Amino acid sequence: MLETHEPYAGAALANGYAFAEGAGYTLPEYPFVAPPEILSGEVKRYPVVIVGAGITGLTLACALAQYGVRALLLDEDNTVGVKGASSRGICYAQKTLEIFRRLGIYERIASKGVQWSIGRTFAGADEVYSFDLRQQQTHSLSQQPPFINIQQFYVEGFLIEQLSPADPADRLIDTRWKHRITAFEQNADFATLTAATPAGSYTLQAEHVIDCSGAHSPFRQWCGIPLSAQKGDDRWCIADVRFKHPPPAERHTWIEAPFNEGRAVWQHLMADGVWRVDYQMPPLASAEAVSREDVVRARLSKQFGHELGVDECEIVWVGPYAYRSECLDQLRHGRVFFAGDAAHVMSPFGARGGNSGVQDADNLAWKLAAVLQGRAAPALLDSYHEERHEAAEYNLRVTNRTARFLRPADGAERLFRTAALGLARRYVFARQLVNTGRMSTPNTYTRSGACSPTGGRATQNVALAWPDGSRGELMDLLKWAGGRLLLLVFGDLSAGAAARLRALSLRTDLRCVQVIAPGESASATEHVLDPQGHLQASCHVFGHAWALLRPDSYVAATGESIDASLVHALGLALGTGEQPQGNAEEKLKGKAA
Ligand SMILES: Cc1cc2nc3c(=O)[nH]c(=O)nc-3n(C[C@H](O)[C@H](O)[C@H](O)COP(=O)(O)OP(=O)(O)OC[C@H]3O[C@@H](n4cnc5c(N)ncnc54)[C@H](O)[C@@H]3O)c2cc1C
Repeated sequence: MLETHEPYAGAALANGYAFAEGAGYTLPEYPFVAPPEILSGEVKRYPVVIVGAGITGLTLACALAQYGVRALLLDEDNTVGVKGASSRGICYAQKTLEIFRRLGIYERIASKGVQWSIGRTFAGADEVYSFDLRQQQTHSLSQQPPFINIQQFYVEGFLIEQLSPADPADRLIDTRWKHRITAFEQNADFATLTAATPAGSYTLQAEHVIDCSGAHSPFRQWCGIPLSAQKGDDRWCIADVRFKHPPPAERHTWIEAPFNEGRAVWQHLMADGVWRVDYQMPPLASAEAVSREDVVRARLSKQFGHELGVDECEIVWVGPYAYRSECLDQLRHGRVFFAGDAAHVMSPFGARGGNSGVQDADNLAWKLAAVLQGRAAPALLDSYHEERHEAAEYNLRVTNRTARFLRPADGAERLFRTAALGLARRYVFARQLVNTGRMSTPNTYTRSGACSPTGGRATQNVALAWPDGSRGELMDLLKWAGGRLLLLVFGDLSAGAAARLRALSLRTDLRCVQVIAPGESASATEHVLDPQGHLQASCHVFGHAWALLRPDSYVAATGESIDASLVHALGLALGTGEQPQGNAEEKLKGKAA
């Protein structure tokens, strides 16, 4: 088991934690500071209070800070990761990496994490199929890879550092460790929270509470929210291991592992040369029994033999787990917004848990910022539930299907799996029926009141060129837009369209940019080049068209001419329900004035 050790003398402690060979991880401990309320006895009111500094709460805090919004971030713990220093999440998908690129931590994740490209799937003694992701990436236009493997606590550590700029005057997020929220109530004007700390309890008020307190969220009960939940009897046990002679850096997945009594096994490489080996256990197996060191070592020997120096391998961490599958019926309850595991819990297959928490946070952050900064109507916040609940339902459907493939019920489900494996051994088409997890992808929003029927799809972080020819990325453009909507108008502009674009550019809630391809001319002050048409493809439009992008890099709407449909789309995306009336051109000019 991972234990707390003295910092390893030779290791770089840039994060306050480091991997020390033979000694596991030493995680950072953040100091408890007595809050001003305890010292003064005053009850303060905050516009945004985030409860829980896990990956979801930290992402939200970083995104809010990037939009210039102040928030209070409270966590009952004082370190990264979950209690017991487990790495839990290991795989971060492209959309999440793009968000981290915007938040400024992507480079660190890419240099610390691991990217593998060869995956092999086995059943019994056979390799059913293998793939090489390098040969499958032609459809991706993103500047980020399909995923990176890295321990969750590293990601959390990078986010915490991002929240702590060198100059305290630039610090917008007040992070308070060892603050456990123990009581909550809300009325029409504000919410009241009680925080228990080592220096005593105190009360604070909040205009918006974001519950990021994980799967055991107390807010669910405090708000009396109905929950759709399922708990299976499938049990798993993780062994995070460092081998003396590491195996090849490939992902191996056994659906029926002969060395694990015919049950599933996963094998992935993470940072620091640590392997995540994940064993499916007998139903209702005792967590204590399966995670005893001698039992873990016996399992590893059975799998790897003695060739990799298994007898001397280092067991960095062992974590037994059973997963649940649940989702709140409402992700908003008055002043409380539920995000991450507090809103939905799913099995880890396809890495949809943490990745969807990051995307919940990114979805909510720009909406909160726009409302608090007076650029959008409060009604915009309702679209958080509409969009992210649809995403959670989809993610749960996908992960539940994988869970059933990996632990099929006797009868039709088992018959299907046996048939799928038999076919996949012989025919390429059947490989897609072998469901060992479907990697987290950005969700499409079909029920959102904030998107037009042409919107709701994610873009990818494609490359573009600035007017001076230097290279940029869509994320840079979104960052430049600073939390405002971004109107991209593709192609040459007529004099009238250029005038309308100039008029729109004066709106404080919008940034307008002309996007030109080779041979087209720039008539708007703000323009970028799209040499290969990737930006246009990523926005799902063709020819002369516009795309209205949101700060979370989703398309709010698309259209062909700058007319009433754009005014309508702006109204939806800002929650103002603004309807075009009369002459659209006049309307646009009127708004600009
Ligand atoms: C074995 C396993 C493997 C996984 N693999 C992946 C993967 O590869 N990729 C992926 O994306 N996801 C993965 N997941 C899921 C992922 O770990 C979770 O979805 C993610 O941790 C959820 O983050 P969160 O911030 O919402 O909640 P948490 O990480 O649970 O954070 C909640 C925070 O709230 C704090 N808190 C709780 N109660 C209170 C309170 N009352 N007051 C104040 N603070 C409080 C806690 O201290 C904690 O810091 C995996 C999960 C497991 C179990």
